[in-house]
Amino acid sequence: MKTDKIKLKAVGITKIFDDGTHRITAIQDFNLEVRENEFTVIVGPSGCGKSTFLYLVAGFEKPTKGQIFLDGKLITGPGPDRGFVFQEPTLYPWKTVLGNVMFGLEIMGMPKQEAKNKAMKYITMVGLKGFENAYPHTLSGGMKQRVGIARALAYDPEVLLMDEPFGALDAQTRKVMQQELMRIWEKTKKTVIFVTHSVIEAVYLADTIVVMTARPGRIKGIIEVDLPRPRSYTDKRYLSIREKVLTLLEEEVTKSLELQRRTD
Ligand code: ADP
Repeated sequence: MKTDKIKLKAVGITKIFDDGTHRITAIQDFNLEVRENEFTVIVGPSGCGKSTFLYLVAGFEKPTKGQIFLDGKLITGPGPDRGFVFQEPTLYPWKTVLGNVMFGLEIMGMPKQEAKNKAMKYITMVGLKGFENAYPHTLSGGMKQRVGIARALAYDPEVLLMDEPFGALDAQTRKVMQQELMRIWEKTKKTVIFVTHSVIEAVYLADTIVVMTARPGRIKGIIEVDLPRPRSYTDKRYLSIREKVLTLLEEEVTKSLELQRRTD
């Protein structure tokens, strides 16, 4: 599905958090190219800078060194060309599903009816038709995350950034959401950067898996997953790629635990 066009390019990214007393280098000399329509998954040990990288792409944070380009344009702050799906979908409890998905569109100046039509299109796409008038507290975790995905897609962003979006879900719902996300992705053909610490999830979803090192996060390895979709979690080729990613990760997880022990 991916094309040869480079959609997103990160060049020499270093991010240092420094509050005057603590100085943490979260990412160092990180370079990445993501092609148009590509589904890129970033995996790495906890605290290696995965979310930091997504925040830099989103424009929520600024790199200490380096630059990120989207369609050749330097990213200098947040913008509607990037949709973000958080681990906890922060929905407005006093707004319905429709209200939550429409809200950002109206803020951007879209006329009400157009915003409503657009919101309904994506609510239907994520499988929530019939729930548009429901309030968030009546929804399950998986349904809330569907709203989060619909909300991000409604802007029709150039890139969809997903930060451990299924991390808080139970194992069964997580599997269903992985399958659903693949179905939605095949429809929208978005360029996606997805962060997870689950290797099983990474191999199920990705065209390309980027394995990061322990902090400061650099690239440890890049693995292309050239398997047909929908993928089977028990397929021999699936298992062999999973093994490859796990081997790369294991060393880094050990390093990361040592780092934690030293700083505890
Ligand atoms: P991951 O997503 O891989 O678990 P993060 O990107 O959240 O890792 O964090 C990378 C490192 O940067 C961690 O050590 C974390 O504590 C630190 N960090 C992240 N955000 C901030 C911040 N706003 N201020 C200070 N340190 C931060």
